[in-house]
Amino acid sequence: MSIVYRRVDELPPELRQRWAAARVWAAHQAPYLATAVLALDPVVVQADPGEPAPDLRGFPADLAWHVYLDPAELHAAEPPVIGFWLLHQVTHLLRQHADRYPGPPGQLDSPALAAQTPQQRQWNVACDCEIDDDLQAGELTLPPEAIVPEMFALPDGWTAEQYWDALPGAGHRDNVAGADREAADWVPAERGPAERGPVDCGTGADGQPRPWNCGRPGLTQVGQRLLGRDVARRIREHQRRRGDVPAGWQRWADDVLEPVVNWRRQLAAAVRRGVADVAGRVDFTYRRPSRRAAALPDVVLPSLRQPLPQVAMVLDTSGSMSDAMLAQALGEVGGVLRSLGLGRRNLRIICCDAHAYEHQRVLDARDVRLLGGGGTDMGAGLAAAVGLRPRPDLVVVLTDGHTPWPSRAPDGMRVVVGLMDQAGSVPDWATRVLIDTGEVASR
Ligand SMILES: [Zn+2]
Repeated sequence: MSIVYRRVDELPPELRQRWAAARVWAAHQAPYLATAVLALDPVVVQADPGEPAPDLRGFPADLAWHVYLDPAELHAAEPPVIGFWLLHQVTHLLRQHADRYPGPPGQLDSPALAAQTPQQRQWNVACDCEIDDDLQAGELTLPPEAIVPEMFALPDGWTAEQYWDALPGAGHRDNVAGADREAADWVPAERGPAERGPVDCGTGADGQPRPWNCGRPGLTQVGQRLLGRDVARRIREHQRRRGDVPAGWQRWADDVLEPVVNWRRQLAAAVRRGVADVAGRVDFTYRRPSRRAAALPDVVLPSLRQPLPQVAMVLDTSGSMSDAMLAQALGEVGGVLRSLGLGRRNLRIICCDAHAYEHQRVLDARDVRLLGGGGTDMGAGLAAAVGLRPRPDLVVVLTDGHTPWPSRAPDGMRVVVGLMDQAGSVPDWATRVLIDTGEVASR
């Protein structure tokens, strides 16, 4: 795709006015998001003559807060529709949907795919469910391309991760109850198909490259953090004076202004990403679309076939592990695996002090026999995990980190370390999640 980038002030006056009107409209609809809308840096995208224009109906943004405008879309859409998409895209950015993307990570500098992968599409739908129910709670009229949880018979007010797990194409679907449900069951008949298929919300939604991204510097990380705090304060202020801020935005402002490190959420996200990464390496197979689903291409999502990811947990039993700690960590990991349709068959537990003990399969944390108590070498636990058959794809290690580690990651395995003492060490080839043991003890 060959693209020429232009500035808004190079557009004809009519289009410039339309852009200005859309920004004013958006700022008026959700005044607490006005600074964010104004922080978007518009980039006009023109395909070379004879080249297909990229589909920019959703006015997609990138991680530097550029927002991409197609003059033809600007001409065709009314300011309230453009304004809706501006509010929608700043929500993807403010809520950091790109960082939360659970699919296999891509490289931003690698070539962009021509179309979204099934996982990107599913995440786009999940995020849009999270966003649009909050926008709908205002007085906005949603354009036909907008996606709301009701379309999938799901409740409002969930996070994108919850929608991701519940959407009909969620990974490992063949193993969960109701897997034989047709995709069409999730689509209320009264919603007509969007005329040109689903809208791609761009890099701002999933962090993956797009062909239209300009690659120029934009709003810095520091600038984004300051902007986020400013918006959060405006949300609080607006709620105090007017009391009509949608619940999802109030929760978000609380998270930004009073961040509590939620290790449960972080551990769950790390495990979910680990499983998704493994799933990305095996084949996704499309279910045969039903007649109704065929009219709505965005809801036909792939299901995962064999092999199912295998997960092992290595527990440091050298002394610091409390029963409460173990129960919570196991509960968290178990909950994620269940939500992905993985059961006891797919989870093995290895107790490890200076050496590793025979693995156990358990359904409940109370059933784990804690073996050991001597010195500490998590390398022995990882070696035992490598020796399991079938071999685990993801290993979650729970430890205080006062242990030697192997110099490199076990081949073909992802390792997540739940660290219970922040003075402990975690090798840089593993994902680190700091677990607040003080919080665990007080519960
Ligand atoms: Zn979106």
